[in-house]
Amino acid sequence: MTTRNTLSEARTKIIATVGPACEDEAILAELVIHGVDIFRINAAHGTQTDFARLLAKIERVREVTDFQVGVLLDLAGPKIRLGKLFQEPLEVDVGTVVTFIRGDVSSSPFELTSNYTKLIDELSVGDLVMLADGMISMEVVEKKKDFARCLVSVTGTIRSKQGINLPGTSLSVSSMRPEDVDNAMWAAKNQIDFIGLSFVRSAQDVSSLKNLLASLDSQALVIAKIEKREALENLEAIVDAADGVMVARGDLGVEIDVAETPVAQKRIIQVCREKLKPVIVATQMLESMHHNRRPTRAEASDVANAILDGADACMLSGETAIGDFPVITVDTMNRIMLSTEKMLKTTPQDVKTRFSSRVHPVTSAVTHNAANIAEAIDAKLVVVASRTGGTAWVKAKQRNYIPTLGVSDSDHTLRRMCLFWGIMPHKVTNLENPESLFDEVTKWGIERGMLSPGDRVVYVTGTGVLNNTHNLLVVHEVPKISHSV
Ligand code: PGA
Ligand code: MN
Repeated sequence: MTTRNTLSEARTKIIATVGPACEDEAILAELVIHGVDIFRINAAHGTQTDFARLLAKIERVREVTDFQVGVLLDLAGPKIRLGKLFQEPLEVDVGTVVTFIRGDVSSSPFELTSNYTKLIDELSVGDLVMLADGMISMEVVEKKKDFARCLVSVTGTIRSKQGINLPGTSLSVSSMRPEDVDNAMWAAKNQIDFIGLSFVRSAQDVSSLKNLLASLDSQALVIAKIEKREALENLEAIVDAADGVMVARGDLGVEIDVAETPVAQKRIIQVCREKLKPVIVATQMLESMHHNRRPTRAEASDVANAILDGADACMLSGETAIGDFPVITVDTMNRIMLSTEKMLKTTPQDVKTRFSSRVHPVTSAVTHNAANIAEAIDAKLVVVASRTGGTAWVKAKQRNYIPTLGVSDSDHTLRRMCLFWGIMPHKVTNLENPESLFDEVTKWGIERGMLSPGDRVVYVTGTGVLNNTHNLLVVHEVPKISHSV
Protein backbone atom coordinates (compact mmCIF):
# COMPACT_ATOMS: atom_id res chain seq x y z
CA MET A 1 0.00 0.00 0.00
CA THR A 2 1.23 3.47 -0.85
CA THR A 3 0.73 6.36 1.53
CA ARG A 4 -1.07 9.60 0.87
CA ASN A 5 0.99 11.78 -1.43
CA THR A 6 1.06 15.22 0.11
CA LEU A 7 2.12 16.84 -3.16
CA SER A 8 -0.91 15.61 -5.09
CA GLU A 9 -3.43 16.33 -2.36
CA ALA A 10 -5.97 19.04 -3.06
CA ARG A 11 -6.27 21.95 -0.65
CA THR A 12 -10.06 21.74 -0.75
CA LYS A 13 -11.20 18.98 1.59
CA ILE A 14 -13.07 15.85 0.53
CA ILE A 15 -15.80 14.29 2.64
CA ALA A 16 -16.89 10.76 1.66
CA THR A 17 -20.01 9.07 2.94
CA VAL A 18 -19.40 5.54 4.20
CA GLY A 19 -21.72 2.77 3.02
CA PRO A 20 -21.77 -0.79 1.69
CA ALA A 21 -19.67 0.12 -1.38
CA CYS A 22 -16.65 1.22 0.67
CA GLU A 23 -16.92 -0.06 4.22
CA ASP A 24 -14.32 -2.69 3.62
CA GLU A 25 -11.19 -1.63 5.53
CA ALA A 26 -8.94 -1.86 2.48
CA ILE A 27 -11.26 0.36 0.42
CA LEU A 28 -11.55 2.90 3.23
CA ALA A 29 -7.75 3.05 3.30
CA GLU A 30 -7.65 3.53 -0.49
CA LEU A 31 -10.11 6.40 -0.16
CA VAL A 32 -7.86 8.12 2.38
CA ILE A 33 -4.82 7.59 0.16
CA HIS A 34 -6.68 9.17 -2.75
CA GLY A 35 -7.62 12.24 -0.76
CA VAL A 36 -10.55 11.70 1.61
CA ASP A 37 -10.15 13.98 4.64
CA ILE A 38 -13.34 13.18 6.52
CA PHE A 39 -15.60 10.14 6.56
CA ARG A 40 -19.30 10.84 6.96
CA ILE A 41 -21.47 8.33 8.78
CA ASN A 42 -25.10 8.93 7.92
CA ALA A 43 -27.10 8.30 11.09
CA ALA A 44 -30.27 7.99 9.01
CA HIS A 45 -29.02 4.54 8.08
CA GLY A 46 -27.92 2.10 10.75
CA THR A 47 -27.69 1.76 14.49
CA GLN A 48 -25.08 2.74 17.06
CA THR A 49 -23.70 -0.79 16.79
CA ASP A 50 -23.11 -0.16 13.08
CA PHE A 51 -21.52 3.24 13.78
CA ALA A 52 -19.20 1.68 16.37
CA ARG A 53 -18.17 -1.01 13.91
CA LEU A 54 -17.35 1.64 11.29
CA LEU A 55 -15.46 3.74 13.81
CA ALA A 56 -13.28 0.78 14.75
CA LYS A 57 -12.45 0.25 11.07
CA ILE A 58 -11.68 3.95 10.60
CA GLU A 59 -9.37 3.82 13.61
CA ARG A 60 -7.40 1.00 11.95
CA VAL A 61 -7.38 2.94 8.67
CA ARG A 62 -5.79 5.87 10.55
CA GLU A 63 -3.02 3.57 11.65
CA VAL A 64 -2.29 1.97 8.28
CA THR A 65 -2.42 5.25 6.35
CA ASP A 66 -0.75 7.29 9.09
CA PHE A 67 -3.41 9.97 8.54
CA GLN A 68 -5.80 11.27 11.19
CA VAL A 69 -8.91 11.21 9.01
CA GLY A 70 -11.87 13.05 10.65
CA VAL A 71 -15.35 11.64 11.26
CA LEU A 72 -18.67 13.43 10.72
CA LEU A 73 -21.78 11.86 12.22
CA ASP A 74 -24.74 13.24 10.33
CA LEU A 75 -27.90 13.28 12.46
CA ALA A 76 -31.10 12.61 10.52
CA GLY A 77 -32.99 15.39 12.33
CA PRO A 78 -36.69 15.92 11.82
CA LYS A 79 -36.83 14.24 8.42
CA ILE A 80 -40.39 13.12 7.83
CA ARG A 81 -40.75 9.74 6.22
CA LEU A 82 -43.55 7.57 4.96
CA GLY A 83 -44.50 4.60 7.10
CA LYS A 84 -44.89 1.12 5.71
CA LEU A 85 -47.02 0.86 2.58
CA PHE A 86 -49.98 -1.51 2.43
CA GLN A 87 -48.53 -2.86 -0.78
CA GLU A 88 -45.04 -2.35 -2.23
CA PRO A 89 -44.41 -0.36 -4.43
CA LEU A 90 -47.24 2.01 -5.30
CA GLU A 91 -47.23 3.53 -8.79
CA VAL A 92 -49.14 6.80 -8.97
CA ASP A 93 -50.34 8.70 -12.03
CA VAL A 94 -51.47 12.27 -12.56
CA GLY A 95 -54.88 12.49 -10.92
CA THR A 96 -54.32 9.59 -8.48
CA VAL A 97 -55.70 10.43 -5.04
CA VAL A 98 -53.79 9.23 -1.98
CA THR A 99 -54.80 9.82 1.63
CA PHE A 100 -52.60 10.44 4.66
CA ILE A 101 -54.19 8.85 7.73
CA ARG A 102 -53.34 8.86 11.43
CA GLY A 103 -51.49 6.00 13.07
CA ASP A 104 -48.98 3.76 11.40
CA VAL A 105 -51.05 1.03 9.81
CA SER A 106 -52.62 1.55 6.39
CA SER A 107 -55.47 -0.69 5.40
CA SER A 108 -55.53 -0.05 1.65
CA PRO A 109 -52.89 0.64 -1.06
CA PHE A 110 -53.76 4.34 -1.38
CA GLU A 111 -53.57 5.08 2.35
CA LEU A 112 -50.28 6.54 3.53
CA THR A 113 -48.86 6.91 7.04
CA SER A 114 -45.82 8.86 8.28
CA ASN A 115 -43.46 8.98 11.24
CA TYR A 116 -44.70 12.49 12.15
CA THR A 117 -47.80 12.24 14.32
CA LYS A 118 -48.86 15.87 13.80
CA LEU A 119 -48.65 15.71 9.99
CA ILE A 120 -52.40 15.80 9.41
CA ASP A 121 -52.90 18.62 11.94
CA GLU A 122 -50.28 20.78 10.25
CA LEU A 123 -51.25 20.25 6.61
CA SER A 124 -53.73 22.62 4.95
CA VAL A 125 -55.62 22.53 1.67
CA GLY A 126 -53.31 23.83 -1.07
CA ASP A 127 -50.06 22.63 0.57
CA LEU A 128 -47.53 20.90 -1.61
CA VAL A 129 -46.34 17.42 -0.55
CA MET A 130 -43.30 15.90 -2.27
CA LEU A 131 -41.98 12.35 -2.06
CA ALA A 132 -38.86 10.54 -3.27
CA ASP A 133 -36.50 13.56 -3.26
CA GLY A 134 -39.09 15.66 -5.01
CA MET A 135 -39.72 13.23 -7.87
CA ILE A 136 -43.38 12.89 -6.91
CA SER A 137 -45.49 15.95 -6.31
CA MET A 138 -49.02 16.27 -4.90
CA GLU A 139 -51.32 18.87 -3.45
CA VAL A 140 -53.59 18.64 -0.43
CA VAL A 141 -57.15 18.91 -1.77
CA GLU A 142 -59.22 17.92 1.25
CA LYS A 143 -58.45 18.04 4.91
CA LYS A 144 -60.57 16.56 7.74
CA LYS A 145 -59.83 15.81 11.39
CA ASP A 146 -58.31 12.41 10.70
CA PHE A 147 -57.09 12.52 7.13
CA ALA A 148 -55.59 14.69 4.40
CA ARG A 149 -56.37 13.80 0.80
CA CYS A 150 -53.81 14.63 -1.90
CA LEU A 151 -54.00 14.80 -5.66
CA VAL A 152 -50.89 13.64 -7.54
CA SER A 153 -49.55 16.10 -10.14
CA VAL A 154 -46.12 14.61 -10.91
CA THR A 155 -46.06 10.82 -11.15
CA GLY A 156 -43.65 8.23 -9.83
CA THR A 157 -43.14 5.19 -7.66
CA ILE A 158 -43.91 5.43 -3.96
CA ARG A 159 -42.02 3.12 -1.59
CA SER A 160 -42.11 2.59 2.18
CA LYS A 161 -39.94 4.99 4.26
CA GLN A 162 -39.46 7.48 1.42
CA GLY A 163 -38.69 11.00 2.59
CA ILE A 164 -41.53 13.51 2.63
CA ASN A 165 -40.78 17.17 1.88
CA LEU A 166 -43.32 19.87 2.58
CA PRO A 167 -41.98 23.00 0.87
CA GLY A 168 -43.53 26.08 2.37
CA THR A 169 -45.16 24.40 5.36
CA SER A 170 -43.81 25.39 8.80
CA LEU A 171 -43.73 22.37 11.06
CA SER A 172 -43.68 22.44 14.84
CA VAL A 173 -41.52 19.32 15.01
CA SER A 174 -38.45 19.80 17.24
CA SER A 175 -35.06 19.93 15.56
CA MET A 176 -33.83 16.86 17.38
CA ARG A 177 -35.94 13.75 17.74
CA PRO A 178 -35.18 11.45 20.71
CA GLU A 179 -32.97 9.26 18.47
CA ASP A 180 -30.97 12.33 17.38
CA VAL A 181 -30.33 13.24 21.01
CA ASP A 182 -29.30 9.67 21.67
CA ASN A 183 -26.96 9.63 18.66
CA ALA A 184 -25.47 13.00 19.66
CA MET A 185 -24.74 11.55 23.10
CA TRP A 186 -23.14 8.54 21.46
CA ALA A 187 -21.05 10.87 19.28
CA ALA A 188 -19.88 12.81 22.33
CA LYS A 189 -18.86 9.62 24.10
CA ASN A 190 -17.00 8.33 21.04
CA GLN A 191 -14.93 11.44 20.26
CA ILE A 192 -16.66 12.17 16.97
CA ASP A 193 -15.10 15.28 15.40
CA PHE A 194 -18.07 16.81 13.54
CA ILE A 195 -21.83 16.44 14.04
CA GLY A 196 -24.20 17.36 11.22
CA LEU A 197 -27.64 18.67 12.14
CA SER A 198 -30.27 18.18 9.42
CA PHE A 199 -33.21 20.47 8.60
CA VAL A 200 -31.98 23.35 10.75
CA ARG A 201 -34.56 26.15 10.81
CA SER A 202 -33.16 28.59 13.35
CA ALA A 203 -30.06 29.46 15.36
CA GLN A 204 -31.81 27.93 18.40
CA ASP A 205 -31.79 24.53 16.67
CA VAL A 206 -28.01 24.78 16.47
CA SER A 207 -27.54 26.14 20.01
CA SER A 208 -29.61 23.36 21.52
CA LEU A 209 -27.27 20.75 20.03
CA LYS A 210 -24.23 22.79 21.06
CA ASN A 211 -25.56 23.07 24.62
CA LEU A 212 -26.17 19.34 24.77
CA LEU A 213 -22.61 18.67 23.57
CA ALA A 214 -21.16 21.19 26.02
CA SER A 215 -22.98 19.47 28.88
CA LEU A 216 -21.32 16.22 27.78
CA ASP A 217 -17.87 17.81 27.55
CA SER A 218 -17.71 17.15 23.83
CA GLN A 219 -15.50 19.28 21.58
CA ALA A 220 -17.30 18.18 18.41
CA LEU A 221 -17.91 20.90 15.85
CA VAL A 222 -21.55 21.36 14.85
CA ILE A 223 -22.28 21.54 11.13
CA ALA A 224 -25.64 23.19 10.35
CA LYS A 225 -27.21 21.71 7.23
CA ILE A 226 -28.98 24.37 5.18
CA GLU A 227 -31.82 22.55 3.45
CA LYS A 228 -34.98 24.50 4.25
CA ARG A 229 -36.29 27.88 3.19
CA GLU A 230 -36.55 28.89 6.84
CA ALA A 231 -32.80 28.26 7.19
CA LEU A 232 -32.13 30.62 4.27
CA GLU A 233 -34.33 33.21 5.94
CA ASN A 234 -32.33 32.91 9.19
CA LEU A 235 -28.99 32.27 7.51
CA GLU A 236 -26.81 34.88 9.23
CA ALA A 237 -27.88 33.87 12.73
CA ILE A 238 -27.50 30.17 11.94
CA VAL A 239 -23.99 30.66 10.57
CA ASP A 240 -23.11 32.67 13.69
CA ALA A 241 -24.34 29.86 15.93
CA ALA A 242 -22.76 26.98 14.01
CA ASP A 243 -19.11 25.89 13.79
CA GLY A 244 -19.54 24.99 10.13
CA VAL A 245 -22.23 24.82 7.48
CA MET A 246 -23.33 22.40 4.77
CA VAL A 247 -25.08 23.43 1.58
CA ALA A 248 -27.33 20.35 1.63
CA ARG A 249 -28.49 20.56 -1.95
CA GLY A 250 -30.37 17.24 -1.90
CA ASP A 251 -33.18 18.41 0.31
CA LEU A 252 -32.67 22.12 -0.40
CA GLY A 253 -33.43 21.46 -4.07
CA VAL A 254 -36.82 20.06 -3.08
CA GLU A 255 -37.67 22.48 -0.29
CA ILE A 256 -37.03 25.46 -2.58
CA ASP A 257 -37.29 25.61 -6.37
CA VAL A 258 -34.28 23.75 -7.77
CA ALA A 259 -33.75 26.76 -10.05
CA GLU A 260 -32.92 28.83 -6.98
CA THR A 261 -30.28 26.49 -5.54
CA PRO A 262 -27.20 27.75 -7.43
CA VAL A 263 -27.69 31.28 -6.17
CA ALA A 264 -28.56 30.01 -2.68
CA GLN A 265 -25.28 28.07 -2.68
CA LYS A 266 -23.31 31.21 -3.55
CA ARG A 267 -25.04 33.22 -0.86
CA ILE A 268 -24.48 30.57 1.84
CA ILE A 269 -20.78 30.32 0.96
CA GLN A 270 -20.41 34.10 0.97
CA VAL A 271 -21.96 34.43 4.43
CA CYS A 272 -19.63 31.68 5.69
CA ARG A 273 -16.62 33.50 4.26
CA GLU A 274 -17.62 36.70 6.00
CA LYS A 275 -18.14 34.90 9.28
CA LEU A 276 -15.04 32.70 8.97
CA LYS A 277 -16.97 29.43 9.07
CA PRO A 278 -15.98 26.34 7.10
CA VAL A 279 -18.56 25.46 4.45
CA ILE A 280 -19.23 22.14 2.72
CA VAL A 281 -21.00 21.75 -0.63
CA ALA A 282 -22.94 18.48 -0.73
CA THR A 283 -25.01 16.15 -2.90
CA GLN A 284 -24.90 15.09 -6.53
CA MET A 285 -21.43 16.58 -7.07
CA LEU A 286 -20.33 13.57 -9.13
CA GLU A 287 -23.73 11.87 -9.25
CA SER A 288 -23.25 10.07 -12.58
CA MET A 289 -20.16 8.33 -11.15
CA HIS A 290 -22.52 6.03 -9.25
CA HIS A 291 -22.27 3.94 -12.41
CA ASN A 292 -19.64 5.63 -14.61
CA ARG A 293 -15.88 5.88 -14.41
CA ARG A 294 -15.96 9.43 -15.72
CA PRO A 295 -17.96 12.44 -14.59
CA THR A 296 -20.09 14.58 -16.86
CA ARG A 297 -18.65 17.93 -17.94
CA ALA A 298 -21.33 19.62 -15.87
CA GLU A 299 -20.26 17.71 -12.75
CA ALA A 300 -16.60 18.61 -13.25
CA SER A 301 -17.69 22.25 -13.49
CA ASP A 302 -19.86 21.90 -10.41
CA VAL A 303 -16.91 20.83 -8.25
CA ALA A 304 -14.71 23.55 -9.75
CA ASN A 305 -17.34 26.25 -9.27
CA ALA A 306 -17.90 25.27 -5.64
CA ILE A 307 -14.19 25.87 -5.03
CA LEU A 308 -14.22 29.16 -6.90
CA ASP A 309 -17.26 30.22 -4.83
CA GLY A 310 -15.11 29.59 -1.74
CA ALA A 311 -16.18 26.17 -0.47
CA ASP A 312 -13.82 24.59 2.05
CA ALA A 313 -14.95 21.04 1.33
CA CYS A 314 -16.96 19.02 -1.18
CA MET A 315 -18.95 16.00 -0.15
CA LEU A 316 -19.71 12.69 -1.83
CA SER A 317 -22.84 10.80 -0.75
CA GLY A 318 -24.12 7.80 -2.70
CA GLU A 319 -21.10 8.00 -5.01
CA THR A 320 -18.89 6.49 -2.30
CA ALA A 321 -21.58 4.85 -0.13
CA ILE A 322 -23.32 2.74 -2.74
CA GLY A 323 -21.63 3.61 -6.05
CA ASP A 324 -19.71 1.24 -8.30
CA PHE A 325 -16.46 3.26 -8.29
CA PRO A 326 -15.83 4.91 -4.89
CA VAL A 327 -12.04 5.17 -5.27
CA ILE A 328 -12.14 6.46 -8.86
CA THR A 329 -14.75 9.03 -7.80
CA VAL A 330 -12.57 10.38 -4.98
CA ASP A 331 -9.55 10.46 -7.26
CA THR A 332 -11.57 12.36 -9.89
CA MET A 333 -12.79 14.89 -7.35
CA ASN A 334 -9.24 15.41 -6.10
CA ARG A 335 -7.96 15.98 -9.64
CA ILE A 336 -10.66 18.52 -10.47
CA MET A 337 -9.81 20.33 -7.24
CA LEU A 338 -6.08 20.41 -7.97
CA SER A 339 -6.63 21.83 -11.45
CA THR A 340 -9.02 24.45 -10.15
CA GLU A 341 -6.88 25.49 -7.21
CA LYS A 342 -4.03 26.44 -9.56
CA MET A 343 -6.12 29.49 -10.40
CA LEU A 344 -5.74 30.66 -6.82
CA LYS A 345 -2.00 30.94 -7.34
CA THR A 346 -2.52 33.91 -9.62
CA THR A 347 -5.77 35.21 -8.21
CA PRO A 348 -5.77 34.88 -4.41
CA GLN A 349 -9.35 34.69 -3.20
CA ASP A 350 -9.14 36.38 0.11
CA VAL A 351 -6.28 38.58 1.09
CA LYS A 352 -8.07 40.90 3.48
CA THR A 353 -7.62 40.42 7.20
CA ARG A 354 -10.96 39.21 8.43
CA PHE A 355 -12.13 39.78 11.95
CA SER A 356 -14.73 37.67 13.62
CA SER A 357 -16.17 37.94 17.09
CA ARG A 358 -14.92 34.42 17.77
CA VAL A 359 -11.32 35.05 16.82
CA HIS A 360 -8.87 37.17 18.75
CA PRO A 361 -7.80 40.18 16.65
CA VAL A 362 -4.15 39.33 17.33
CA THR A 363 -4.70 35.87 15.81
CA SER A 364 -6.35 37.38 12.75
CA ALA A 365 -3.63 39.96 12.23
CA VAL A 366 -0.65 37.68 12.83
CA THR A 367 -2.06 34.88 10.67
CA HIS A 368 -2.84 37.30 7.89
CA ASN A 369 0.66 38.72 7.93
CA ALA A 370 2.23 35.28 8.02
CA ALA A 371 0.86 34.77 4.52
CA ASN A 372 2.19 38.17 3.39
CA ILE A 373 5.63 37.48 4.82
CA ALA A 374 5.69 33.99 3.31
CA GLU A 375 4.97 35.46 -0.10
CA ALA A 376 7.51 38.29 0.30
CA ILE A 377 10.38 35.96 1.23
CA ASP A 378 9.30 33.15 -1.10
CA ALA A 379 8.81 30.70 1.77
CA LYS A 380 8.18 27.10 0.77
CA LEU A 381 5.93 26.29 3.69
CA VAL A 382 3.79 27.93 6.35
CA VAL A 383 3.45 26.02 9.61
CA VAL A 384 0.57 26.69 11.96
CA ALA A 385 1.25 25.27 15.41
CA SER A 386 -2.00 25.04 17.25
CA ARG A 387 -3.31 23.46 20.41
CA THR A 388 -7.04 23.69 19.68
CA GLY A 389 -6.95 24.37 15.94
CA GLY A 390 -8.16 27.99 16.28
CA THR A 391 -5.20 29.54 14.47
CA ALA A 392 -5.39 26.93 11.69
CA TRP A 393 -9.10 27.75 11.35
CA VAL A 394 -8.35 31.42 10.68
CA LYS A 395 -5.47 30.60 8.35
CA ALA A 396 -7.75 28.33 6.30
CA LYS A 397 -10.13 31.18 5.54
CA GLN A 398 -7.29 33.35 4.27
CA ARG A 399 -6.94 31.56 0.98
CA ASN A 400 -3.50 31.45 -0.52
CA TYR A 401 -1.52 28.85 -2.34
CA ILE A 402 1.58 28.42 -0.14
CA PRO A 403 1.49 24.88 1.31
CA THR A 404 0.44 25.02 4.94
CA LEU A 405 1.13 22.43 7.57
CA GLY A 406 -1.10 22.36 10.65
CA VAL A 407 0.85 20.82 13.51
CA SER A 408 -0.38 19.76 16.89
CA ASP A 409 0.34 17.17 19.55
CA SER A 410 -3.36 16.36 19.80
CA ASP A 411 -5.06 13.84 17.49
CA HIS A 412 -8.36 15.55 18.16
CA THR A 413 -7.04 18.90 16.90
CA LEU A 414 -5.46 17.26 13.85
CA ARG A 415 -8.78 15.64 12.92
CA ARG A 416 -10.51 19.01 13.20
CA MET A 417 -8.01 20.43 10.74
CA CYS A 418 -9.30 17.89 8.22
CA LEU A 419 -12.10 20.35 7.49
CA PHE A 420 -9.87 23.42 7.19
CA TRP A 421 -9.05 24.41 3.62
CA GLY A 422 -5.39 24.05 2.67
CA ILE A 423 -4.24 22.81 6.07
CA MET A 424 -2.33 19.53 6.02
CA PRO A 425 -2.56 18.06 9.50
CA HIS A 426 0.65 16.62 10.94
CA LYS A 427 1.36 15.29 14.41
CA VAL A 428 4.40 16.49 16.32
CA THR A 429 5.60 15.29 19.69
CA ASN A 430 6.55 18.66 21.12
CA LEU A 431 4.67 21.85 20.40
CA GLU A 432 6.35 24.10 22.99
CA ASN A 433 9.98 23.62 22.14
CA PRO A 434 10.86 25.60 18.99
CA GLU A 435 14.06 23.65 18.27
CA SER A 436 12.35 20.28 18.28
CA LEU A 437 9.39 21.69 16.32
CA PHE A 438 11.78 22.99 13.60
CA ASP A 439 13.50 19.60 13.55
CA GLU A 440 10.30 17.61 13.20
CA VAL A 441 8.90 19.85 10.45
CA THR A 442 12.21 19.94 8.55
CA LYS A 443 12.38 16.15 8.63
CA TRP A 444 8.78 15.91 7.37
CA GLY A 445 9.41 18.38 4.54
CA ILE A 446 12.71 16.87 3.39
CA GLU A 447 11.25 13.35 3.36
CA ARG A 448 8.45 14.53 1.07
CA GLY A 449 10.64 16.61 -1.19
CA MET A 450 8.87 19.78 -0.10
CA LEU A 451 11.87 21.37 1.63
CA SER A 452 15.56 21.64 0.80
CA PRO A 453 18.45 23.19 2.76
CA GLY A 454 18.22 26.97 2.64
CA ASP A 455 14.44 27.04 2.20
CA ARG A 456 12.48 29.40 4.40
CA VAL A 457 9.55 28.30 6.52
CA VAL A 458 7.17 30.70 8.27
CA TYR A 459 5.88 29.48 11.64
CA VAL A 460 2.80 30.84 13.36
CA THR A 461 2.03 29.58 16.83
CA GLY A 462 -1.35 29.78 18.46
CA THR A 463 -2.03 31.87 21.53
CA GLY A 464 -0.42 30.34 24.59
CA VAL A 465 1.48 27.59 22.78
CA LEU A 466 4.57 29.22 24.22
CA ASN A 467 4.06 30.50 27.75
CA ASN A 468 2.44 33.92 28.12
CA THR A 469 2.39 34.73 24.44
CA HIS A 470 -0.14 35.75 21.92
CA ASN A 471 0.33 34.40 18.44
CA LEU A 472 3.95 34.40 17.45
CA LEU A 473 5.49 34.57 13.99
CA VAL A 474 8.95 33.14 13.29
CA VAL A 475 10.91 32.59 10.08
CA HIS A 476 13.18 29.55 10.09
CA GLU A 477 15.69 28.54 7.44
CA VAL A 478 16.27 24.88 6.76
CA PRO A 479 19.92 24.32 7.81
CA LYS A 480 22.40 24.05 4.97
CA ILE A 481 24.19 21.04 6.48
CA SER A 482 22.12 18.00 5.75
CA HIS A 483 19.56 17.44 8.40
CA SER A 484 20.27 14.62 10.84
CA VAL A 485 17.37 12.22 10.81
P1 PGA B 1 -28.81 14.09 3.46
O1 PGA B 1 -28.26 15.58 3.49
O2 PGA B 1 -28.01 13.34 2.46
O3 PGA B 1 -28.62 13.65 4.85
O4 PGA B 1 -30.25 14.26 3.08
C1 PGA B 1 -27.64 16.19 2.42
C2 PGA B 1 -28.62 16.88 1.48
O5 PGA B 1 -29.81 16.97 1.75
O6 PGA B 1 -28.12 17.36 0.46
MN1 MN C 1 -30.72 16.34 3.53
